[in-house]
Amino acid sequence: MSDRRNPFQSVIDAQFQSRWDSGEALRTLLDDFFDVHVRSGLIPSATVAEIAGFSSHQDGPIAFKLQRNFGRVNRGVSSRIHPNPAYTIPFKDGMPCFCCGDVIAYQWPGERGFQINPGRPLIVLPNISPIFLPHFTLVSPAHDPQMMDLHTMIACAHLIPGGWVIQNGPDAGATNPWHYHLQVFFEPDLPIQNCPAFPLSSTVDQLDHPALILKITNPDIAIQVAADYLKLGDTRRLNILVRVIDDECHTYLILRDTRFRTALYRSGQPGYAESAGIISASSELIYAQWMAEGCQRYCELMSDIRPRDEETEVFKSTRVRSF
Ligand SMILES: [Zn+2]
Repeated sequence: MSDRRNPFQSVIDAQFQSRWDSGEALRTLLDDFFDVHVRSGLIPSATVAEIAGFSSHQDGPIAFKLQRNFGRVNRGVSSRIHPNPAYTIPFKDGMPCFCCGDVIAYQWPGERGFQINPGRPLIVLPNISPIFLPHFTLVSPAHDPQMMDLHTMIACAHLIPGGWVIQNGPDAGATNPWHYHLQVFFEPDLPIQNCPAFPLSSTVDQLDHPALILKITNPDIAIQVAADYLKLGDTRRLNILVRVIDDECHTYLILRDTRFRTALYRSGQPGYAESAGIISASSELIYAQWMAEGCQRYCELMSDIRPRDEETEVFKSTRVRSF
């Protein structure tokens, strides 16, 4: 049985921890770390081959990339269901939390991790249902809820320049809102990067996009705008993407509200990836639908989840413009 004081003890890989601690070139280390899990079969090589290809779609400023990702399953599904230790808060449908260390050690004994500390300790794990190659999930060692935390994201982005650090809000794409987690990947050509933008103020741009997306290059202002938006009410959510390029920190805030849902996505609430322009089709039928309907379908999906209430308009036209 694992040590209750450190539930990730048996997950931590001494070799990768040592490579991280010694400051080895990060991209190589992370590539190796991901490859270990592909070679072990934890991430099926068929999935890797499948998701490597994208079909690109563009109509004016609207662009998205479509991938087949038929193996993408709920991360909580394992052939070995942990007997739910008393100190683990159950995940949905009575399943144990799949981000807790003792559950990972039991359900996916081949999964390894190492700890980083961007202002708070986080365990780096491979994302075993990846969208990108490589793709990582960073989880809190403790079973803490998914609070939005741009401070940690920015600190993390500075640790992995060029890499994307993302966080989904609960009921806005986060599959496990009961356990704090971020994701990291290195996609160099995310459609959101190339979306035209217009200024709302001297420091805040809005993307010309059917979702409501702000781009902010001043990290302090990004933190303030994110906090102010969430204060508008209990239904307010964010998807956040952060990346450090040439020492400049780029933050994308996707303004969300759980009152606005879509019939074009299985849970009604897609997350950061779809808003950033990546659509993962979970079957050949859905892939064919996206191929046939292209940007029109993408616009509809994004328009569905855009907050369209008056409070959001006032927030955008007064509060955001004051920065
Ligand atoms: Zn947990």
